[in-house]
Amino acid sequence: MFSERVERLNLHGLHFQHVVLCKRRAWMYLHRINFAQWYSRVALGTARHLTSYQRDRSAIGLFGLAPDRIDWQHYIVHENKGSGGAVQAANLQSAFYALMLSIATGKNWTAMVHILSTRSQRTLELDHAMLASLLKASEELEQLARSKTVPTASRKKLCGACSLALFCGFV
Ligand code: SF4
Repeated sequence: MFSERVERLNLHGLHFQHVVLCKRRAWMYLHRINFAQWYSRVALGTARHLTSYQRDRSAIGLFGLAPDRIDWQHYIVHENKGSGGAVQAANLQSAFYALMLSIATGKNWTAMVHILSTRSQRTLELDHAMLASLLKASEELEQLARSKTVPTASRKKLCGACSLALFCGFV
């Protein structure tokens, strides 16, 4: 069921990060709406010109997204993070890679998250709790993919670095 959903919705690691960080951002990403597209739909005539100079920061790294390193010999997938924030989001994204590799290879993979700023790391096992979290997140993503309505959102620290901040009114 999980892998069928992943394939059908074309889910990858960033979806699992977004759904933890912000349901609205996840919805936008699932529906392939970025700031420039939205703005051109709703704003006045000058918007299209203005947005042609906007860079969608949330799109950075979305394409060709892959784990930072795959240790095929020891079945460990490595993911680097600059800071130690958003632990749950980083964990779910990394565990997603480990699960997909486990499904693909039939081996038990683990994920290792490296926090570059503190030179620390944590290992994530695909235990029952993690598998349940991944399944729940995939179900939430399915609901968001089906929903025609933009989810409600509240201001959060992440908004400061999100290209949708103007749309959300959280600039
Ligand atoms: S600006 Fe904030 S609330 Fe809006 S999509 Fe981005 S993170 Fe979510």
